[in-house]
Amino acid sequence: MEINCLFCRIVAGQIPATVVRETDTTLAFRDISPQAAVHVLVIPKEHYADVATLTQADPALAGDVLGTAAVVAETEGLLADGFRLIFNTGQFGGQEVFHAHAHVLGGEPLGPMRSR
Ligand code: 5GP
Ligand code: ZN
Repeated sequence: MEINCLFCRIVAGQIPATVVRETDTTLAFRDISPQAAVHVLVIPKEHYADVATLTQADPALAGDVLGTAAVVAETEGLLADGFRLIFNTGQFGGQEVFHAHAHVLGGEPLGPMRSR
């Protein structure tokens, strides 16, 4: 655990979160500032700064994150109409919390992938 990491503190139960799914290796909880009707974050319990670092260090754990994201998409009712899975990474990617996380977004049409 990284003492100053927000998501490590959520894993440790030191900061409350609305958990929608937990496995041995992953945690899924609702985003505090939802950008869509459904907005769930999926994280590895172990700290990695971003998805690239995670995948290089532990590809199986990265697979667990994807697996949990897929189950969340199903349990949130997103499979029929579709959803978006995003890993913001680094400065240009707009990453704000440096503990790897997937955004599961859906429940309404999400529009173009990006605006410019
Ligand atoms: P990023 O920009 O790093 O990809 O996404 C970080 C996400 O974490 C943002 O969507 C933000 O709303 C969410 N977030 C920030 N602080 C908290 C918090 O304390 N609890 C929860 N559940 N989400 C948070
Ligand atoms: Zn962390």
